[in-house]
Amino acid sequence: MPSLPLTGSCQCGAIRYRISRAPLMIYNCHCTNCQKISGSAFSTPMAVMEDSFQITQGDPERLEWASDVGSVRFGLFCGDCGNRIAHGQAPTRGVLSVRSGTLDDTSWIIPVGDIWTTSAQSWTEMSPHRLQYARQPEDYAALFAAFSGLGLFAV
Ligand SMILES: [Zn+2]
Ligand SMILES: [Zn+2]
Repeated sequence: MPSLPLTGSCQCGAIRYRISRAPLMIYNCHCTNCQKISGSAFSTPMAVMEDSFQITQGDPERLEWASDVGSVRFGLFCGDCGNRIAHGQAPTRGVLSVRSGTLDDTSWIIPVGDIWTTSAQSWTEMSPHRLQYARQPEDYAALFAAFSGLGLFAV
């Protein structure tokens, strides 16, 4: 079981962060931006409240791009190793998507859904145990409920 605060770093270790409160959800995103960013088939973001996320070492670089639905997204990344740490929306909605593979301990991660399955790579197997969305979910209530229902974090 995970314990708070969660901690993580970029690949080279120059940037470190901590998360003081329980994440809202973890899911797989198969959008074309995540395929480019990860250099793989999908990403596994962990949504956290922005005010629970703190950089504890280093000074991340920032870049912006348009999401698959046209909203402005920004990314925080390490200027030394190029590793993406977290993404957010501009203007902010108070939530950051931390790249869950950058956590120090990834052993407890359980994605509860798959989004943008319409652009998933053909070999990707979808589990019936995860919620599925063809594109961006209209709202995230079902994903939030599924994640908190796992009981990974004490309330
Ligand atoms: Zn780095
Ligand atoms: Zn995505």
